[in-house]
This record gives sequence, C-alpha cells and structure tokens, in this order.
Amino acid sequence: MALKNIPYDQKYYDPEIETMPRPELEKYQLKLLKDELRFSYEHCPYYKRTWDELGLSPDIESLKDLEKFPFIDKSTERATQGVGSFFGELCGCPEDDVVYMATSSGSTGVPTMSPFNQDDFDQFMAAESRLFWQAGMRPNDRYLHGMNFALYVGGPCVIGAQNLGALGIWVGAVPSDRLLWAMKHYQPTFMWSSPSYAWLLGQKAIEKGYDPKVDFASLKTIIISGEPGGSIQTTRKAIEDIWDASVYDFFGLSDIYGACAGMCEYKDGLHIIEDQILVETVDPATGEVLEPGQKGELVYTTLQKHARPMIRFATGDIGWVDNTPCKCGRTHARIHISGRKDQMFIVSAVNVFPSDIEYVVRADAGLSGEYRIRAYDENYTTKYEVSVERVFGSDEPFDKIAERVENALKTHTGVRPSRVLVYETDGLGVSAEHKASRFIDEREHKN
Ligand SMILES: [Zn+2]
Repeated sequence: MALKNIPYDQKYYDPEIETMPRPELEKYQLKLLKDELRFSYEHCPYYKRTWDELGLSPDIESLKDLEKFPFIDKSTERATQGVGSFFGELCGCPEDDVVYMATSSGSTGVPTMSPFNQDDFDQFMAAESRLFWQAGMRPNDRYLHGMNFALYVGGPCVIGAQNLGALGIWVGAVPSDRLLWAMKHYQPTFMWSSPSYAWLLGQKAIEKGYDPKVDFASLKTIIISGEPGGSIQTTRKAIEDIWDASVYDFFGLSDIYGACAGMCEYKDGLHIIEDQILVETVDPATGEVLEPGQKGELVYTTLQKHARPMIRFATGDIGWVDNTPCKCGRTHARIHISGRKDQMFIVSAVNVFPSDIEYVVRADAGLSGEYRIRAYDENYTTKYEVSVERVFGSDEPFDKIAERVENALKTHTGVRPSRVLVYETDGLGVSAEHKASRFIDEREHKN
C-alpha cells in the first residue's frame, strides 16, 4: 500500500470522513448499513436463516430500523463456527478469500475465529493509521510494537503505523528485560501496552536501575488498551508519571478490529470509527435501545466488513456514547467504557465496577496502586472487600490507611466496602506480566 504522504501538520488523517457533519455522517452510515445487511443476508447462512424465521427483510429505511434485528454475541460465534464451512455460518465469503484470522482471547469457553478478507484487512489497517495519527503519530516517529502476534488481533496494528510512514519496530510480547533492552537501544517515541503492563514495566525498569525519564527519554506517547484502566484518569496519570509520556487509551476487540476507537488529544472518551462501526447502547436486561448519554451495554454493527459481518454484536461492555461535538473537531462519537457486564456487582442497589475502585486506589499517593477486589454474598446481600498495598517506604499505620480508603470508596462509588485490608508493597502478588486479574467474584448469583 502506498503511503498517503500527508503533511505532518495536517490535523486529521482523513479530514472528510473524520469531520463529516453528523447528519451527513448518519446518511452515509445508512447507505453502508443497507449494503451490509443485504450482503449479510445473501452471503451468511446464519443471518438468512435467523432473519427469515423472524420475517425480517434486510432492506431498511432508517438507522432506527436496525433495532428490529436480533443481537448476536460470543455464543453465536461459537455455535456457528465450523458449521457448513471452516469459518462457519457467520462467514460471508469463501475460505479462499480469507487472508487473515485472529482469535478471541478465549477467557470464557472456546476461542472464536475472526476472519478477514483482503478488503477487510485493508480497512482495518486504515482504521489503525487514522487512530495512530489522531494520537499524534507521524512518519518521523518510531513505534515499538510490544504486542503479542500469536493469533491476537492487536498484532497486525503495527502495519497501521507503518502505513502512515512511521518506523515499525516489531518486538512482540517478550520478557520485560528484553523489552527494556530494545527500548534503550532503539529509543522509540511511541509504544503500545496494556495499562497494567505499562505500569509494571515502569516498576521493573526502576528495579533494574534505569531512570525511565532519562533512559527512555525519547518515549513521548504510550498507547494502552485491553483493560478498562486506560479510561481511568488516575491510572493514566500514574503511568504518565513513571514514563513522563502522554497516555492514550485505545479500544479493540478480536471480533472486529485491534483498535476500533481511540482517544484524541482531549482524552474525553474514545472516538469510534463510525464509518466502519455503528454503535448502539442497550439496556443489558431488556435489550431496549437507550439514548446517547445513557449507560448500558455497547452493541456494535460493522458497516463494511465482509468475511464476517457483525450485525448487532452485544459486547458485554457497559458504557455510554457521547455524540456531541468534540473540541478536536472530529464528529465521530466517543465511547466511555465502565467495565464488563459480568464484572459489575450491585451493592445496596448501586452498580459498582472494578474500574471505580481502581480510580480511588490509583488516586491515593499513600498506596502502591495495586489492589484486589472480592465480591461475595453474605446474608443474601452482595458485599465487597478491597485489599490494597501501602506505598514503598511509607510507615503510615494500616488502620489509618484503611479508614481513608473506605471513606474514599464510599464517596466515589456510593457504597462503603465491608472492609479494606492493607498489605505491604508487593504483598498482594497480583502484578501480572500482561492482563492482570484483580477481581475475585464469589457471588452466588451474578447479575
Ligand atoms: Zn476529539
């Protein structure tokens, strides 16, 4: 693919699409959606069968008509893959046309395959280039790609950086020593990591005798994704303080693209690529469509994908959509994600997400930043307990820390934890190399 050769000072990668006035953007989405539904009906056995059973015509008149269509989710992917063909009944093209596949991380159940034909893959890369440009990447940047390449949809994103002209440094998921060595020698200006790993790598660098601000002075931007932490302002700040770099949150999912949305310089939500993905927010219990600004489950519909069109894919992520104009001038809506539906717990009728608790823990300078949450049932009600670590070098009494954190949690979440347990630094042992699991769910009845 030829480079676009955009002047470095041009603000938008694709000005016409990114700043399209909303009425025009919605008209464009409708045109794309009509084609995507018709294509899906004609080429994907699952959609034809399901919509025929429901008496639904794929021909629609307005974006609102999409509400009539049934949701799909991970279980639909699992049930249809391998049925009738290798990629199964959601696939819209012959296997010969498929050039790339990712799989889901498979955290629950069988991993699912996510196929791309060449057009899908080109669109995917164009989206990555646009989101990188939006985060400030230019052809004179060096981008260190420390992501896993093994079947992971974040892997190919490095090509999106190269396509805008940046230097792609394909490091992959390597042990932290090797990564720090590469960073020291190649002095990247950009890198991508999960929030917990960006934080942990900073700790490791300090342990190894590096001064991140000096030894990795070239690093100016860290892109993070894969955990809600990227959207928690206090977590971003903690990472920024270690590296003296600006942190941008990106969001992707194996079912669609490595990144589907990313922050602009104002960092008030993540601009979703609305010319390729239509986003809805629905009531997670009833499926009823909610207004922009209301919190619910995020549902995505692809607008231009053919190897596996996703029509109303219910993600299990709880969040809200802001389609008011952004200060950056982009008209594409911004998503705000609170966390996973299955990690939300209800205490005294208040919805609490692990990300709410992380916000409080990361904001407290007397704590290391690590934490563990346990949600459990007692006398038929859900309660939660939070474990934290005292920051290295502090001699503040544990009971004083516990009291302060309890009060802060009550203020921020609306409900007091049953208790706060305080440990020494590293006492929790929850730091993981990549995705960290800090939530223990012992509830008998999940939401
Ligand atoms: Zn913006």
